This record gives sequence, structure tokens and C-alpha cells, in this order.
Amino acid sequence: MTDDLCKSCGSCGFPMRSAADHAGGLPDADYCSTCGLETGELKPFEDAVAANADYLVQEQGLDPRAARDMAAALLVTMPAWQARR
Ligand SMILES: [Zn+2]
Repeated sequence: MTDDLCKSCGSCGFPMRSAADHAGGLPDADYCSTCGLETGELKPFEDAVAANADYLVQEQGLDPRAARDMAAALLVTMPAWQARR
């Protein structure tokens, strides 16, 4: 199970090191707590962008509008969203 050591979120690439980093605190979830719902399923795109933007604002002090643009630009490059287009 070595490939589970540092699984990254399929939506934003965030490395999920503990159960709490996973959506819903579920270690088997493919998405992080920012991008996923309590059920471990992926949030709608706009919700995931908004949640990631909030994270950037809090962690990096970005302007909310700039954070949203950055989050959207990041998410569209990720496997979870490419598969849906
Ligand atoms: Zn994520």
C-alpha cells in the first residue's frame, strides 16, 4: 500500500497525508476536504473553485477575485475535471 502514503487530491493536487485531509475524513476518498463532500464525492466545479479560493485567501492572503481565478485555472488542469469535459 505504498502508493497510499501521500495520495494527492484528484481535483486540486493537494497532498492528503491524514484522514482529516480527505473529504469527509474518509481515507479512501479521492478528493481532499476542500474539494470533496462529506460523502467523499467531488463537489460541483463552482463549489470546488470557491472552496479552493477561500483556502488561498486564508493561507496566502490573496485578493478573493485573484484567488478565484487562480483556483479555477488550477482545477481545470486536474484529472478530475478533465474527465468531465
Ligand atoms: Zn482538492
